[in-house]
Amino acid sequence: GADVVPKAPEDPLFGLMAAYRKDTFDKKVDLGIGAYRDDNAKPWVLPVVKKADALLHSSPDLNHEYLPIAGLAEFTSASQKLILGADSPAIASSRVASLQTISGTGAVHLGALFLSKFYHPAHNPNPSVYFSAPTWANHHQIFSNVKLPIATYPYFSPKTRGLDFDGMLAAIEAAPRGSIVLLHACAHNPTGVDPTREQWRQIADVMAARAHFPFFDCAYQGFASGSLDRDAWAVRHFVERGFELLVAQSYAKNFGLYGERAGCFHFVAGAGAEGADTAVRVASQLAILQRSEISNPPAYGARIASAVLNDAALFAEWEDNLRTMSGRIMAMREALRAKLEALGTPGTWNHVTEQIGMFSFTGLTEKQVLAVREKDHVYMTKNGRISMAGLNTGNVDYVANAIDRAVRE
Ligand code: PMP
Repeated sequence: GADVVPKAPEDPLFGLMAAYRKDTFDKKVDLGIGAYRDDNAKPWVLPVVKKADALLHSSPDLNHEYLPIAGLAEFTSASQKLILGADSPAIASSRVASLQTISGTGAVHLGALFLSKFYHPAHNPNPSVYFSAPTWANHHQIFSNVKLPIATYPYFSPKTRGLDFDGMLAAIEAAPRGSIVLLHACAHNPTGVDPTREQWRQIADVMAARAHFPFFDCAYQGFASGSLDRDAWAVRHFVERGFELLVAQSYAKNFGLYGERAGCFHFVAGAGAEGADTAVRVASQLAILQRSEISNPPAYGARIASAVLNDAALFAEWEDNLRTMSGRIMAMREALRAKLEALGTPGTWNHVTEQIGMFSFTGLTEKQVLAVREKDHVYMTKNGRISMAGLNTGNVDYVANAIDRAVRE
């Protein structure tokens, strides 16, 4: 019976959020959760989302019918163009199969499930999926749930607080031929450290030589740099090189649609005459997997995103909203680094401005993390990751002082 079910540990991130909520100190700071906050530490509904919402609700045709199994067609086709580029040869030659998913998490899961069922290359019939060390913690759970063996490649160098590129490349090269390699398309979570374009080219070289299978997790397009094209560069480069690959796309951060669970999964067939046929067969299998798990995806968030993605004026306004978010975050990176340097906090702090996206890996030890939590009520994950969006002009000096004291202890 169920009396043998052991109690599982609480999700550490959600536990951290609960501890923050309970804290009654007036200057407490939440640097845990990866959700954008404005300069007043409040959630920000994108103005373009408000507009799209009003448009939707003024439509006399709005109803609550089911979406198709693969989701809203105008949403999935706009999502393809967004990530692959409107002029992508893969789209032009019908090599892409796309399904709307339960945000990025659902897309990663659908990809993992698909691989577990259908990806068994002859020379490596039980392939492992390789994650960066570290990676988004949920990757481990999602892939082990579908029983794919997990391995890791080095990624973060604690010494430079940047990319351990040699370690990464060597491990990918040493992985058995046909391994699955999970890559963060941009704004790596949790480190904020991305390869350069030249490094991406070399990663693609090694992946091609070893016949590895790329799976891109893209949770921050446009949110990271403020440019949708720049943040999609790595994915597009791999597609140009002719790889067969998967992409998980989330609209949580770049539309601020966290709770609406709007996302998309793409299978891109390799460049070759049979690619379009492969995409049709894969799409048919993905539809069966989707049907058995969620039947069909939720409509509201996809309708909002679709309204924006398919209208030139709203799209331009969205890009402006993206620059507002990424610009504020970059300004907070500058401010935190400047303050730490002004305080003469031991160590170097250039990594704070060199890292990109929602997070910064500060390099604080677990002991220091706990010290700033207990003494200064500043909440961050145990690995020293801070959500840059939790900083604002009102608390950045306070946080810098807290970090300064913890580092000096
Ligand atoms: N992948 C990565 C790397 C992420 O950081 C996130 C968001 N934390 C996701 C996927 C998925 O998020 P969501 O399901 O909210 O879209």
